[in-house]
Amino acid sequence: MGAAPPPPVSANCPLCGTAVGAEGARCPSCGLYLGPESGRPNPFTQRVLWALVAGVLAVYLLTLAGVALLA
Ligand SMILES: [Zn+2]
Repeated sequence: MGAAPPPPVSANCPLCGTAVGAEGARCPSCGLYLGPESGRPNPFTQRVLWALVAGVLAVYLLTLAGVALLA
Protein backbone atom coordinates (compact mmCIF):
# COMPACT_ATOMS: atom_id res chain seq x y z
CA MET A 1 0.00 0.00 0.00
CA GLY A 2 1.82 3.09 1.21
CA ALA A 3 5.47 3.64 1.62
CA ALA A 4 7.30 1.59 4.14
CA PRO A 5 8.01 3.37 7.41
CA PRO A 6 11.58 4.57 7.81
CA PRO A 7 13.85 2.31 9.79
CA PRO A 8 14.36 3.28 13.42
CA VAL A 9 17.28 5.57 14.07
CA SER A 10 20.07 3.60 15.56
CA ALA A 11 23.73 4.26 16.02
CA ASN A 12 26.72 2.23 16.89
CA CYS A 13 29.17 3.26 19.52
CA PRO A 14 32.33 4.49 17.75
CA LEU A 15 34.39 3.20 20.61
CA CYS A 16 33.24 -0.36 21.13
CA GLY A 17 30.70 -0.80 18.32
CA THR A 18 27.79 -1.66 20.56
CA ALA A 19 24.41 -0.77 19.07
CA VAL A 20 22.91 2.21 20.86
CA GLY A 21 19.16 2.77 20.70
CA ALA A 22 19.09 6.36 19.48
CA GLU A 23 21.23 9.44 19.22
CA GLY A 24 21.72 11.32 22.42
CA ALA A 25 21.96 8.11 24.37
CA ARG A 26 24.76 6.60 26.33
CA CYS A 27 26.53 3.44 25.30
CA PRO A 28 25.47 0.69 27.69
CA SER A 29 28.76 -1.08 27.21
CA CYS A 30 31.43 1.56 27.73
CA GLY A 31 29.37 4.56 28.83
CA LEU A 32 30.40 6.78 25.93
CA TYR A 33 27.89 9.55 25.37
CA LEU A 34 26.60 9.73 21.80
CA GLY A 35 25.26 13.19 21.22
CA PRO A 36 25.05 15.67 18.34
CA GLU A 37 27.89 18.09 18.92
CA SER A 38 27.82 17.98 22.66
CA GLY A 39 30.69 17.73 25.04
CA ARG A 40 33.72 19.82 24.22
CA PRO A 41 33.21 23.12 22.38
CA ASN A 42 34.14 23.58 18.77
CA PRO A 43 37.66 25.09 18.43
CA PHE A 44 36.57 27.04 15.33
CA THR A 45 33.81 28.73 17.31
CA GLN A 46 36.30 29.60 20.02
CA ARG A 47 38.65 31.11 17.44
CA VAL A 48 35.84 33.23 15.98
CA LEU A 49 34.92 34.36 19.47
CA TRP A 50 38.48 35.49 20.17
CA ALA A 51 38.61 37.31 16.83
CA LEU A 52 35.42 39.16 17.76
CA VAL A 53 36.84 40.09 21.16
CA ALA A 54 40.05 41.34 19.55
CA GLY A 55 38.07 43.41 17.05
CA VAL A 56 35.94 45.02 19.73
CA LEU A 57 39.05 45.71 21.80
CA ALA A 58 40.79 47.34 18.81
CA VAL A 59 37.80 49.61 18.18
CA TYR A 60 37.70 50.50 21.86
CA LEU A 61 41.40 51.39 21.93
CA LEU A 62 41.08 53.43 18.72
CA THR A 63 38.17 55.34 20.22
CA LEU A 64 40.18 56.00 23.37
CA ALA A 65 43.12 57.23 21.29
CA GLY A 66 40.83 59.50 19.25
CA VAL A 67 39.30 60.99 22.38
CA ALA A 68 42.76 61.50 23.90
CA LEU A 69 43.98 63.26 20.74
CA LEU A 70 40.92 65.50 20.58
CA ALA A 71 40.97 66.43 24.23
ZN1 LIG B 1 30.63 1.85 23.64
